[in-house]
Amino acid sequence: MKRLDVVVIGGGLVGAATAFRLAQAGASVAVVEAGYPNIGASGANAGSLHFQLERRFLENGEALADQAAQVLSLNRLAIEEWRRLDAEMGPDLHIHMRGGLMVAETADQVRTLERKVAREVEGGLDTRLIDGAEARTIAPGLSEAVTAAAYLPSEGHADPKALTPAFMTRAQTGGVQLLQGARLTAAGADAQGYRLTVRRGEADIELATRKVLIAAGAWTGRIGELFNLHLPIYPVALLMNVTERAPPILEQLIQHVGQRLSMKQAHAGNMLIGGGWPSRMLLDAAGRFDLDRPAELLTPSLAGNLGVASRIFPPVAELNLIRSWTGITAITADQTPLVGEVPQAPGVYVAAGGSAFTLGPVFARLLARLILDEREDRLSIFSPARFGHLNSFMGGRLA
Ligand SMILES: Cc1cc2nc3c(=O)[nH]c(=O)nc-3n(C[C@H](O)[C@H](O)[C@H](O)COP(=O)(O)OP(=O)(O)OC[C@H]3O[C@@H](n4cnc5c(N)ncnc54)[C@H](O)[C@@H]3O)c2cc1C
Repeated sequence: MKRLDVVVIGGGLVGAATAFRLAQAGASVAVVEAGYPNIGASGANAGSLHFQLERRFLENGEALADQAAQVLSLNRLAIEEWRRLDAEMGPDLHIHMRGGLMVAETADQVRTLERKVAREVEGGLDTRLIDGAEARTIAPGLSEAVTAAAYLPSEGHADPKALTPAFMTRAQTGGVQLLQGARLTAAGADAQGYRLTVRRGEADIELATRKVLIAAGAWTGRIGELFNLHLPIYPVALLMNVTERAPPILEQLIQHVGQRLSMKQAHAGNMLIGGGWPSRMLLDAAGRFDLDRPAELLTPSLAGNLGVASRIFPPVAELNLIRSWTGITAITADQTPLVGEVPQAPGVYVAAGGSAFTLGPVFARLLARLILDEREDRLSIFSPARFGHLNSFMGGRLA
């Protein structure tokens, strides 16, 4: 059996983009995808390119906010990466970087914005605190309820339906083998790397590889178990909504510092409304969260999401809602992404957690370098080594 350089588990954005970068560098790569490319969070998300610190980083105290602020170094790189992508991949990705406003209504929220902007400026972003009136000159539909906003001109959005397929198509053109409808079911180590068993239909396919990248989003913890590893990533189910098409009414990405809200107008004119309102994951026959079935939509989340959207940006209240859906993504125990080689399983890399639509393309560029043994320090703060204690009795390279 010919040994591959890298097998990537998962054909979402992170897997597809990293496979493409690896192939560009000359590696032999296969992507193993249980469903089809973009079936997971990568195809179900809001498409926000948010480089400001997200609200969720700010609501659990200063210590966690400080820790989460480490992501700013990656956000800065992501801004450059998205600008490059626009030039590299053309207009079909609908990359639209015309600014983002994180709004506040109350005095408390304004103070949170002030601290956030200070952190971001220190971290090298050119975020600016502006008052409500200036926010309304930038985005005229914003309501009088908005008293201040943090404005970052490079924020924006892109098309989640287009991005992963674009990377996957380019990866395949570059020689990457896509095994679709193929689920990793077992893994073992040998002297040169890893042997993987992949179930496709009724058949088992055996793969031999030097290295493995686990790019399995919400399924990452489950894949970790196949390598006798604890990967502390937790699935979370979120809600998304889309309205009918409207004439151009919003150029920017809108978020809220004290409420769950993200809003933008997609290229076809529809308004996409989300921001992290919870959905409820179903349970499987074994009583575990079922990651393969859509989560249940919760009506209080729907009402809450649409309520805050209408209050902050009243023109959206005039539009009909045409669809709501749920998607399952993944967060880590300390909120920052988990990206790099797992020390207890040399040759096994993981990339998950965080806002990996915004960060997926930059993860891919840096990870490909890391996997190909090029010097790459920019991911070191996100290394799984920080959770090494969880794996001190795990791992092991015995077949
Ligand atoms: C509703 C929602 C809104 C979001 N909004 C944003 C946003 O606006 N901006 C942002 O930056 N991020 C956002 N995110 C997060 C973002 O979508 C994810 O971080 C990102 O898509 C993760 O990409 P991925 O490739 O790691 O995972 P996924 O896209 O989930 O891909 C993982 C793949 O692994 C496959 N897989 C699982 N198990 C196996 C197995 N055993 N064998 C083979 N394949 C397997 C799955 O089928 C899946 O295709 C949002 C997420 C959701 C759910």
